[in-house]
Amino acid sequence: MLRLPRFTYLQPKTLKQALAMKADAGPDAAYVAGGTDLYPNMKRRQQTPGSVISLAGIRALRRVTGAKANGMTAPRHDGMVLGSMMTLTDVARHRLIRRRYAAVARAAELISTPILRNMGTLGGNLCLDTRCNYYDQTYEWRKAIDFCMKKDGKICWVAPSSPRCWAVNSSDLAPVMIALDAQYLLAGPSGERVVPAGRFYHNDGINYLTKQPDEILTAVRLPAPNGWDATYLKLRRRGSFDFPVLGVAAWVQWEGATVRAARIVLGAVASHPQEVADAAQAIIGTELEDDAIDGAALAAFKPSKPMDNTDFGLSWRKEMTRTFVKRALLELRTRRR
Ligand SMILES: Cc1cc2nc3c(=O)[nH]c(=O)nc-3n(C[C@H](O)[C@H](O)[C@H](O)COP(=O)(O)OP(=O)(O)OC[C@H]3O[C@@H](n4cnc5c(N)ncnc54)[C@H](O)[C@@H]3O)c2cc1C
Ligand code: SF4
Repeated sequence: MLRLPRFTYLQPKTLKQALAMKADAGPDAAYVAGGTDLYPNMKRRQQTPGSVISLAGIRALRRVTGAKANGMTAPRHDGMVLGSMMTLTDVARHRLIRRRYAAVARAAELISTPILRNMGTLGGNLCLDTRCNYYDQTYEWRKAIDFCMKKDGKICWVAPSSPRCWAVNSSDLAPVMIALDAQYLLAGPSGERVVPAGRFYHNDGINYLTKQPDEILTAVRLPAPNGWDATYLKLRRRGSFDFPVLGVAAWVQWEGATVRAARIVLGAVASHPQEVADAAQAIIGTELEDDAIDGAALAAFKPSKPMDNTDFGLSWRKEMTRTFVKRALLELRTRRR
């Protein structure tokens, strides 16, 4: 049985207290939300914070506000603001989210298992550690290969001559948030700031977030529904359990029967959710006819370069990019007609 290392557990009641605790403890402290990612990582000694600051007691982080409501200190808008401590179950079941942001609800309900969704949170999912077959192993396993660059070692076993880590962003919700152009609300020692979802992730398996370590993701602001539609499809080995080996989030804004704007984002193929602008460009100005969809699928296939550090064969996963983009766009077309 894997055991947690010793640590001090802190339970702030407010954001201010949480930030003060983090400032006191410094780099040796980590925030925890549901703990479904952090605690397994701690058991494997991938992360060993001396202090763990729980966000669970901060009620403001569970707040959900709907149309024309204020979220945290964000300006008024017509979308929704979801507190980062909403559980994945809450996100998947929320009536308004299901009705207006079905792609968000679908991505949430495709994550892991019901028990983990009851604990796991929206914020934790969006800040998920990157994953790799050589890293998500016990301490002894990793020690036997002399560790790797991401933790305790010097080399990358996936690409030994590479100066960087290629661990994969496997969040199901992150590609959807980028496709929707959601905004993340962050609180830090110097106040609050708003970051577009697309600028929250680095394509680097070690430094995978652009947020500062002491910043707390407080909420996610979803844009108003104004003629757009979106979907999310996920590929994995076991449909009831596994992380994605490919995620496809597709967003289109309609003008009559024509696509006015589009975004297509791939999950689990890089260290960040990968937006494929050429795929979106292939369908803008079209009515999503078959050849436009084929063009977008090909444009997404080309830059999709899955690494050999998750499940399934590389070339098949790459080929699946084409298939899943096609399926996602067909779904959007069918709903429109
Ligand atoms: C068996 C198994 C299967 C899984 N399958 C999937 C899957 O299919 N898809 C998927 O996407 N995920 C999957 N997960 C990962 C995880 O369960 C979810 O991503 C979950 O949403 C993580 O949320 P959490 O609240 O538990 O995160 P935590 O473990 O609490 O936190 C994760 C990380 O985010 C940081 N963090 C958390 N909240 C905040 C915040 N508000 N502000 C700043 N930093 C924060 C923490 O410091 C930590 O580094 C799986 C996990 C397991 C164990
Ligand atoms: S991609 Fe390379 S450095 Fe990164 S976790 Fe995997 S083996 Fe380690």
